[in-house]
Amino acid sequence: MTYVKVCVCITPEAETRGNRIQRDFVLSKEIWRPISFQLNKVIQLSAYTFRDREISYITPFREQPKVHSLLQKCASLSPESEIYVCYVGGDYFQEPHVIGCAYSQRCKDTWKGFILLTNSAASRPNMYTLAHELGHILLTRRKDGFLTNADPDSPHGSVHHPDPFNLMHAVVPTPKHIRQLDRLLSANQLETALQSPLLHKKSNL
Ligand SMILES: [Zn+2]
Repeated sequence: MTYVKVCVCITPEAETRGNRIQRDFVLSKEIWRPISFQLNKVIQLSAYTFRDREISYITPFREQPKVHSLLQKCASLSPESEIYVCYVGGDYFQEPHVIGCAYSQRCKDTWKGFILLTNSAASRPNMYTLAHELGHILLTRRKDGFLTNADPDSPHGSVHHPDPFNLMHAVVPTPKHIRQLDRLLSANQLETALQSPLLHKKSNL
């Protein structure tokens, strides 16, 4: 069994109806098989209400005190987790059409992953958004002393895949265009993700 420990953080006004969070993780597990996402902790943080278009994904999070504080809070409440998924209020980030983002922060000799998802990511056409953002974290690796999350198939070092039907395309594919979830990733992507130092491997025996 290959897994990563995840902490889910729910902030006020984040959409949770329709088993959204469960759906996000069931799909992500299906897509990233054999990697599974072990829900280590679920926390509700009432002090962090985000408005629509409040968060920027371009401005570094440490320069956005509320976001920075949220991420630090999550890390302190579940220090054993490797990835933190924060569901926030509002539909978009400040940047047009952006509904999710992923960010890796150095921590001791490795790093931790942080994901923010808005309410637009709850809609059915955007249901692969969590899996996509998890991809940015799982594809993060060390190269020449730096962290990179360049897509392993991208010819120019982009973090996004050139194929519009690939999970890691800049515009995340919608379920309408995808018949088989196992076709969303290339063998190269999965192989790279399986080398992530964030993963734990446990024998099934
Ligand atoms: Zn992306």
